[in-house]
Amino acid sequence: MGIRSILSSPEWLVEEPAYNLEKINFYETIFTVGNGYLGTRGSLEEGIKGELQGTFLAGVFDHHDSAVTDLVNAPNWLPMRIRVDGERLSLQRSKILEHRRILDMKKGLLYRFTQFEDSQGRRTRYESLRFASFNNQHLCGIKAAVTPENYSGSITVESLLDGDCCNLDRRPVYVPEKPKFHPEIKWRKWAKSKHMEFVDGTAEQDGVYLEMKTMDTGHLLGYAASLNVSGADITTEYFQDYENASQVSGFEATQGNSYDIEKLVMIYTSRDIPGEELKSSCLNRLEGERSRGFDCLIDEHVAVWEGKWAASDCVIKGDPKANHALRFNIYHLLIVGNPNDPGVNIGAKSLSGEGYRGHVFWDTEIYMLPFFIYTQPETARALVMYRYNLMPGAMENAKINGFKGSQFPWESADTGSETTPKWTPDMQVRIWTGEEEVQITADVAYGILTYYTATGDLDFFLQAGVEILMNTARFWESRLEYNETKDRYELTSVIGPDEYHEHVNNNVYTNWMAQWNLRQAIDTYHWLKEKRTDEFPKVIKRLSLSEEEVATWQKVAEKIHIPYDSEKKLIEQFEGYFQLKDIPITEFDKNSMPAYPDGYHAHNSKETTLLKQPDVVMLLFILPNDFDDEVKRTNYEYYEKRTMHKSSLSPCIHSIMGIEVGDTTKALQYFYRSALVDLEDNQGNTEYGIHAASAGGTWMSVVFGFGGFRVKNNQMTFKPWLPEQWEELSYTLKWRGDDIKVTIRLDEGIFTLCSDDKAKSEDIVVFDKRYTLKSDTEVVVAFLPEAL
Ligand code: BGC
Ligand code: BGC
Repeated sequence: MGIRSILSSPEWLVEEPAYNLEKINFYETIFTVGNGYLGTRGSLEEGIKGELQGTFLAGVFDHHDSAVTDLVNAPNWLPMRIRVDGERLSLQRSKILEHRRILDMKKGLLYRFTQFEDSQGRRTRYESLRFASFNNQHLCGIKAAVTPENYSGSITVESLLDGDCCNLDRRPVYVPEKPKFHPEIKWRKWAKSKHMEFVDGTAEQDGVYLEMKTMDTGHLLGYAASLNVSGADITTEYFQDYENASQVSGFEATQGNSYDIEKLVMIYTSRDIPGEELKSSCLNRLEGERSRGFDCLIDEHVAVWEGKWAASDCVIKGDPKANHALRFNIYHLLIVGNPNDPGVNIGAKSLSGEGYRGHVFWDTEIYMLPFFIYTQPETARALVMYRYNLMPGAMENAKINGFKGSQFPWESADTGSETTPKWTPDMQVRIWTGEEEVQITADVAYGILTYYTATGDLDFFLQAGVEILMNTARFWESRLEYNETKDRYELTSVIGPDEYHEHVNNNVYTNWMAQWNLRQAIDTYHWLKEKRTDEFPKVIKRLSLSEEEVATWQKVAEKIHIPYDSEKKLIEQFEGYFQLKDIPITEFDKNSMPAYPDGYHAHNSKETTLLKQPDVVMLLFILPNDFDDEVKRTNYEYYEKRTMHKSSLSPCIHSIMGIEVGDTTKALQYFYRSALVDLEDNQGNTEYGIHAASAGGTWMSVVFGFGGFRVKNNQMTFKPWLPEQWEELSYTLKWRGDDIKVTIRLDEGIFTLCSDDKAKSEDIVVFDKRYTLKSDTEVVVAFLPEAL
């Protein structure tokens, strides 16, 4: 058993049952380990042709020679190669008798077992355990055991730090469509960008160290490594070669004995400490950790994981597949959240791949932030502070585009300036989202208020929150266009959440959110003026805000145009949408997902009413108080029939809204679609990285959808609905410093307020009826059959 005995019980494991070259990039994504500071894809230690390896350090971007700035594919700390009498063990060159890998989601460990047979018939068993420490975010390690099964001979272990890494930049043009390449060469077809140059490397007994520098941004990246090998008469050599540093340790191995290998790596960058201290810090801190012993480091890591799960686990009894998939999504959110760095955010592909070049979208505020707000508010705070810290960039964006205030970028990286590429990676299709998907600015404001409402973090709100609200309102006021003939304000030439329709006028999601943003700023202004008389003059001064300016916001907000058919209660997605060709979706794939009607695809659906993802339905979801039940049902029914779900951001929202309007059969289907997006690769692109928004959306679909939780009028409300096979659903929500524990069964709900303040109470609303929760006292609410 050895190393494997540490693994958790099966419901916490994700397994790769055998080696399959076609799936290596998929597993690299699935098996990413990380700790918010860094993420490392699940590539093999010994490397393999066709791999798409990557370690990403949050916040380390570079623009050198690439189309737009990239999250740098940082030095690779994994390489560890085993040679038997000089022959390298490799999945491609050796015979593989057995190979399996297991991700332990509970403990944040990646386990591997491979049995190789080399060209001489020698059989070697290799087991390893990998972790990116949750206890010390700068520390990573691999513990391995190698066993010669049917021979005695010489074994060497080569451990390397490799700085010769590049990012994918441009894809070749394929007309009419991409040919199927052998997986070994697929990525070699791309043009790459090199973002790092060599600074320093040492390989000697006192330490193996590599330092690289990003070319445009000038970040220094320091890595120190140690390698301990058990066995007698170890010989060790050190090499410093082109952009790498390595240690090779060898020994004579005896048949049947197991030999332990421990590699530890310490990573710091000049974002963390002064550049001149990098080398000594990496080496000294590595030595400090190493002296405490590998097992102790793993124990500490596992202990932190325990705490993370205690705060964020959701348990679905009666549906193990759903629970497993949900936990997989939570795992990937946990490994990318970082409470310690308010200068970074979470990219659309987390730290698990190069997709979207590591950029941050509305995915954070609308899809991921809720998970963090209600389970780890400290991480949520860092995420909202990122927007505040990058506000100078957002102000610059507004200025460049001729507007006032702060215009947040559709794609954001390290400065707050717009980083959306203008072309697809093969340079064939112009991308307009950077210019036109302006809703992001209101989404950022929405994230700020959601965070503040749930946490009551007044310090944050008075400083950062208020500034963001006022500056985003300023942006909208200047971006909105007055149409004199119609006496109304409009937003022309935009893209709403549904990206199939570009250059449209008066997209309702965008207009409504702009109006909402203005109104929130106005309300906040009056609240400050009336209730925070101390802070009010300071805020006014800091922002040079005047009563007249706020009055203008009011005037503009009242006249924003919202296309709406009041007779049919149907919201028109944008002006002219109802005049488009209405082509029904009639074909569905095996997952019950729509197939394009004949002749249609992503680039010509603009002529039709087909949607990529929810737009009006998205609005109904994020502002549940603004629409009555009939409007929700009518619009869900109309738009759901026209939605292609070609974005992974789509199914979770339909799951939640499906439950809200009573379309429960589909709601369950949509939930599975969302929960399994990566585990089953149902969008076909998991190799580029985890769909992080869908991971957050999956959590929302459980807690907001089935769990029925929503905040309405600053209060927690619940309208749960469970599928028949779900015996019980339980989850915990952080609310203003306390925990609210929720257990939902088919016939009842149990709600408990857990607070250090025993005198505390909290009012909640369950199926429109008010209940008062008192500290540590269960409130049991019986559900009437008609409510469910
Ligand atoms: C979706 C966007 C999303 C982006 C990044 C796109 O396909 O349409 O809504 O923000 O992916 O996940
Ligand atoms: C997404 C856009 C994004 C663009 C460039 C598209 O696939 O749908 O939201 O801005 O890629 O990254």
